Amino acid sequence: MKVMEKAPAKINLALDVLYKRPDQFHEVEMIMTTVDLADRIELEEFKHNQIKIFSHNRYVPDDDRNLAYQAALLLKKTFGIQQGVGIKIEKNIPVAAGLAGGSSDAAATLRGLNRLWKLNLSLDELAELGSKIGSDVSFCVYGGTALATGRGEKIKHLPSPPKCWVVLAKPVMGVSTADVYKRLDLQKVEHPNVEKMIQAIENQDYRQVCANVGNVLESVTLPMYPEVSHIKSQMERFGADAVLMSGSGPTVFGLVEYDSRLHRVYNGLRGFCEQVHAVRLLGEQAGLE
Ligand code: ATP
Repeated sequence: MKVMEKAPAKINLALDVLYKRPDQFHEVEMIMTTVDLADRIELEEFKHNQIKIFSHNRYVPDDDRNLAYQAALLLKKTFGIQQGVGIKIEKNIPVAAGLAGGSSDAAATLRGLNRLWKLNLSLDELAELGSKIGSDVSFCVYGGTALATGRGEKIKHLPSPPKCWVVLAKPVMGVSTADVYKRLDLQKVEHPNVEKMIQAIENQDYRQVCANVGNVLESVTLPMYPEVSHIKSQMERFGADAVLMSGSGPTVFGLVEYDSRLHRVYNGLRGFCEQVHAVRLLGEQAGLE
């Protein structure tokens, strides 16, 4: 038997870091929302009691470093499952890009194996398990739009933001999230107003969503990689309504309300940036199968 799951990328409309906790994790406040750029995960029962990863992308590990592998192993150990699984990952989300590709693959694997192995776990239970794999996995289990607090694993669902296009542009290099957090100096950052962003989403006020995007991790990644600043300024110049780096970067996203403007932003970026995608916000918790 086989099951398929869609594993969408996320962007952060706001990302704030409050302080470093005694357990060395950072206390964060993030507004996350899924976009229509997704990996596809195919899970197939194996006779042999082992987990195997199949992927054509050379940047995706095919062993226990893969977050989808870790998700399968966690379910096997927690529920004493003596079955194997083949996990095929069709990678469409750029790797190490600030788009939570690995976390979304892990979340999709949890949802898919819940069906394949008939575990009958709720999304809340899967999200709780997911938090053991990585801070973004809980959000990715649900998708949609949410405020994530704690180290990212405490999820409060929000309505879908107002409809718009999202242009994603990724420079060639990848960025290590751990490295960016290590270099973060909280004395030097400008904190986004997360409360105002929540209000803007609840009021369906597109202008206020655009006015309140903010990401403290830009203070680390932008000075390290001038390419990211360049993409940001070009996206602004081509007329995106709001421009921000997603997660720890290096992907930059632009929000665009009108189709006519979308073409200008997309084509302008394609002139000098290889990886550019124009996608829709998924917004609500989507059917992810
Ligand atoms: P986040 O925004 O959650 O920090 P990211 O989008 O910046 O994530 P990922 O694409 O998840 O980064 O990849 C980060 C690293 O994780 C990669 O360099 C890769 O070695 C490893 N990795 C583990 N599992 C996966 C996976 N399924 N897909 C992609 N990368 C994975």
